[in-house]
Amino acid sequence: MLKEIKKRTFTNGVCYALQTEDGFPLEVTDTFLPFYTKDAIGKKQNKLNNYDLKDRTERWMIGVSCMSGCPVHCKFCATGNLKKYRNLTADEIVEQVEFIINKNPEYDPKKAKEFKINYTRMGEPFLNIEAVKEAILKIDQKYPFVHHYISTIGIKDSDFSFIKDNITLQISLHSLDPKKRNWLIPFHNKLTIEELGQIRTQSRLKTTINLTLVNLEDFDIEKLNTYFNPKYFFIKLSPINENSVSEKNHLGSGVIKGKNLV
Ligand code: SF4
Repeated sequence: MLKEIKKRTFTNGVCYALQTEDGFPLEVTDTFLPFYTKDAIGKKQNKLNNYDLKDRTERWMIGVSCMSGCPVHCKFCATGNLKKYRNLTADEIVEQVEFIINKNPEYDPKKAKEFKINYTRMGEPFLNIEAVKEAILKIDQKYPFVHHYISTIGIKDSDFSFIKDNITLQISLHSLDPKKRNWLIPFHNKLTIEELGQIRTQSRLKTTINLTLVNLEDFDIEKLNTYFNPKYFFIKLSPINENSVSEKNHLGSGVIKGKNLV
């Protein structure tokens, strides 16, 4: 049973710090946005039109952790403050979803225009992939209308064949300079930029390439065009969420000046 330790409320949701029975910390987020922000086509960005944020009947997003801590140690990730890590079990991942749904008895996920689970909080999902797959099966059984977004740095020898229908892949690329990418994501056993561009899935949505750009030099349109066919990939530019680890690594505020809501 996960225990609530504390929570932080922000404009469009809540972030909860939880703890496993054996004392490992993790976090889960409960956020919502107006439905129109789902579609950035033509507008090139999914910026809010105004501060009418609607509620969980529009886009309801639960961000789960797959691990407590993370062995990858990305240079901008606050998870790096934790000294230990452990994989979470499938039940601990499912329980995070139930925890958020129970916190919002006035909302029915079935009635939301979009209900999605983002595997984007603590941990690299493909380093705990059997538990993640089992959790997806369990969540699908109870909430068949859900959409899962699995975010990965691209671990070598990963099997992407289960990424289909209501499961979509998001790849953390962050730089098109391989040296810089290796520095930002200092995990040896990962796919090269060229190999990432060869990933194909059976998802009903394109694979997202996420670029949290530190400097403009990290963006190379020629390489993007060469490696990532727009038929299969959707490019997303994200701001840096500044934290003590990103500050320690002198990353600044990044290229994208738009900020997530606080
Ligand atoms: S893989 Fe994800 S959780 Fe792990 S250090 Fe990188 S950004 Fe953080």
